[in-house]
Amino acid sequence: MAYVIIAVCFGLAGGIVGRIKGSSFVLWFLISGAVPFFGLLAALAYRFERDELRRQCPSCGRVTKIYDALCTRCGAELDFPETAIAPDSVGLIRREQTPAGS
Ligand SMILES: [Zn+2]
Repeated sequence: MAYVIIAVCFGLAGGIVGRIKGSSFVLWFLISGAVPFFGLLAALAYRFERDELRRQCPSCGRVTKIYDALCTRCGAELDFPETAIAPDSVGLIRREQTPAGS
């Protein structure tokens, strides 16, 4: 009986985490309830990955993580970009440049 309570608690926590970052509450409730603790960790890690900023390789156009120093497709060296692509969880292209003349 205690295990059921623990599983439900972790399920709720994982579900809430999943819901906050725009995924399915039910999906993460089931995952976190089936594998308590690890499911919650997965929900947290999944969010972290999706919230990472991205940018586009100037040589081949591949979208990589913003912290990558080399393009994973063409091997071009990548400086820290002036423009970043918003995380998957936002789904919009966002300009990171500061407006001129401010
Ligand atoms: Zn490239």
